[in-house]
Amino acid sequence: MRHTAPSQRVRLTRSPERAAYDRETIDGILDEAMVAHLGFVHDGHPFVVPTLHARVGDVVYVHGSSASRMLRTLVAGAQACLTATIFDGIVLSRSVYEHDINYRSVVVLGQLTEVDDEKRKNAALEAFMERLVPGRWAESRPPTRQELKATRILQLPIEEASAKVRTGHPDDADSEDGLLGIWAGHIPVNLRYGEPIADPALRHGIPVSQAATALYRTRRQMPAVRPS
Ligand SMILES: Cc1cc2nc3c(=O)[nH]c(=O)nc-3n(C[C@H](O)[C@H](O)[C@H](O)COP(=O)(O)OP(=O)(O)OC[C@H]3O[C@@H](n4cnc5c(N)ncnc54)[C@H](O)[C@@H]3O)c2cc1C
Repeated sequence: MRHTAPSQRVRLTRSPERAAYDRETIDGILDEAMVAHLGFVHDGHPFVVPTLHARVGDVVYVHGSSASRMLRTLVAGAQACLTATIFDGIVLSRSVYEHDINYRSVVVLGQLTEVDDEKRKNAALEAFMERLVPGRWAESRPPTRQELKATRILQLPIEEASAKVRTGHPDDADSEDGLLGIWAGHIPVNLRYGEPIADPALRHGIPVSQAATALYRTRRQMPAVRPS
């Protein structure tokens, strides 16, 4: 695991023991987090906008309508900050002060550039779809040229990035508070998927999507609690 920040801007100051700067950790969090937030300044105002993202190799893609203010601002060269977070649990300490959460998060700083090439745009859209529902790309109608034109795809290189990871139990067991008769521990939190629900407007006789069923089957169970 890499413990040296690639730049001063992404060096964690508080709880530096929770920092990681290696691509394996960073990529793993980006790939598992379902939602990212993009921060940028437009007309002197900061905005932080939730968005889908997809990592392919050394870049993170974001996409949206050609009319999106966020994408227009970013394409114009604004500095951006993309964050992705996975909420893993709640940490119940003996004192109010030490209560915490378990999480894995990533911050990527940099400038986004537009992907113009039709082939790469198509591949990026496939990456978005496949990370949401593996196998769904093959089941769906592919994008038309017009739809590709109406979609802007931007890429952010993963060069200046940091991860922060907190796992396990409260930190106060070895302090005076450890002697208090107050229960302490943590509650794991996992994302669980519900059974697919058919669109009421679906034509009669269309079987449930295999991709949706497979996703539901893998994600309906609470994953085993990770060791702390
Ligand atoms: C879901 C969640 C909830 C949190 N709630 C709180 C809270 O209530 N109060 C609080 O003080 N902190 C909270 N944190 C931690 C918070 O994200 C910062 O890590 C913290 O404020 C300390 O930042 P710093 O002063 O070390 O870094 P800063 O000086 O603010 O940042 C320097 C650099 O460190 C890196 N960095 C900082 N934080 C993170 C991170 N979480 N993940 C990846 N890279 C990071 C970035 O590259 C950043 O540019 C939370 C984190 C998560 C994931």
